[in-house]
Amino acid sequence: MGKQYQVLARKWRPQRFDEVVGQDHVITTLKNAIEQNRLAHAYLFVGPRGVGKTSTARIFAKALNCVKGPTVTPCGTCDNCVEIAEGRSLDVLEIDGASNRGIDEVRELRDTVRYAPSRGRFKIYIIDEVHMLTKEAFNALLKTLEEPPPHVKFFFATTEPHKVLPTILSRCQRFDLRRIPTPAMIQHLRKIAKAEKIQISDAALAAIARGAEGGLRDAESTLDQLIAFCGDRIEETDVLSMFGLAAQDQLTGLVDALIEGDVVRALRVVRDLDEAGKDLQRLLADLLDYWRHLLVLSLGEAAASELDVADSMLETMRRQAQRLDTDTVLRVLDVLSAAENRIRYALSKRLVLEIALIKAIKSRQAVGLDAVIRRLTELKTLGAAPAPASTPVGQPTGRSAPTDAAKPNAEISLEDLWAGAVEHLGKVTPLAKSCLVGTKPLGWSGAILRVGFDPEFADRMEFVMHARNLEVLTAFLRERLRRDVSIKFEPCDELRQAPGTTHESPSAAPSALAAEARPAARGPANTVAAAPVNMDEFRNDPMIKKALEIFKGSIVEVRK
Ligand SMILES: [Zn+2]
Repeated sequence: MGKQYQVLARKWRPQRFDEVVGQDHVITTLKNAIEQNRLAHAYLFVGPRGVGKTSTARIFAKALNCVKGPTVTPCGTCDNCVEIAEGRSLDVLEIDGASNRGIDEVRELRDTVRYAPSRGRFKIYIIDEVHMLTKEAFNALLKTLEEPPPHVKFFFATTEPHKVLPTILSRCQRFDLRRIPTPAMIQHLRKIAKAEKIQISDAALAAIARGAEGGLRDAESTLDQLIAFCGDRIEETDVLSMFGLAAQDQLTGLVDALIEGDVVRALRVVRDLDEAGKDLQRLLADLLDYWRHLLVLSLGEAAASELDVADSMLETMRRQAQRLDTDTVLRVLDVLSAAENRIRYALSKRLVLEIALIKAIKSRQAVGLDAVIRRLTELKTLGAAPAPASTPVGQPTGRSAPTDAAKPNAEISLEDLWAGAVEHLGKVTPLAKSCLVGTKPLGWSGAILRVGFDPEFADRMEFVMHARNLEVLTAFLRERLRRDVSIKFEPCDELRQAPGTTHESPSAAPSALAAEARPAARGPANTVAAAPVNMDEFRNDPMIKKALEIFKGSIVEVRK
């Protein structure tokens, strides 16, 4: 009979502060507190499961009760250290709030807390999942916490700090343990594999880390299972099939397809993974993660140091990020994260994923409307001599507009003036003009022209009040009136008409896609739904037409 197999998580449980993986910020502070003898009565360790909360608490207990302590390097061999490590120290009581909700133990705690420790320096109570304690247990605990005897320390741990009573929280020094960064996790797993004489590829290690999502204990358990299934040689595919994960190079391939706009290739990857029984929801989550990393990389090298990816991936990602700009990455991220919400409840996860990829590719190719306008303006400035100040481009010739801009404003009725402005805007963008049909000038408030609109069409006004359109309108008014003016739109009940009488147009589906086509200046109607936008009007808009010519594009989607 060989030696009994001990699970890795237990065997590799850290025994010294320096062995705690990925929580340097916590360990450093604790060490300082011990060295400077500035110890609090109660500590709260917060963090997701399996990241080292109770392990840290136990090491802390050893540090305080070691015969050589308090010390930042407990010896690990004295009776106190050994008993604590084995969970049988009389001075260190561990209570699991989750398993029995702690009533009896807290009662015992309350009865025994005033007695001096039997052997160690302190009586230490480690309470795991402290938020799970019953109300009674909590209250008993609180009484003790209010006036703890000097020889008593409390180490609490919780995954859900918001459920811990504020009266307890306020008496604790709090430490937040984080998910273990991928490189640190991989390094740790590699060390274990080497010591256990397991042959495991880097890709397999990275896949374990990816599957464990920052939980070290989960990663160690996975390694246990892999050893049980595969013996002493572990490949990436073993890990992938255990988690239902896509291979890293499949993921990379998918991202390449997105970058290159290769819909066929992207869909092929999805098909292959689906047929191989992979978890497509998980695939989308991984893809999102991947793009998040590309986002960080697209921001420059300074941000890259914050990245949580396997070293083996960094070069590839860097190369991919170089082919993208931040705006593009953001647009794709928008599409993917919208899909992540949808895929959870979708009957066909594959369909959701495929649509998301196609949308992402389309959005990736789309040029933001603002970028188009900016480019157009640049071209205009370069190509045409500036128009004389008194003759705005596209000056209206209709009945409403005065032919002589220098005419005093007294001779222009407010209605005519406004109609002229709307006509003028129509020369630039008929779409915006159509949105202004039915508006009415209400009068002046100082230099502000108040314009009423049918409250029914508040959404439309949001569209019109885009800074660009406002600028065209005010420029026209300024020219006519020879003074500085601004425009304020306000809902006007008098203009209300039966719904559906005018402006019926198919409304563009609201979309989580890029935000840059949103109005820069938002009106009072901030909460309105998507502006109905007529695709034909949009397409025939001369400015848009010009833009499409210049960019050799087609309209993918009209967003509000
Ligand atoms: Zn010791």
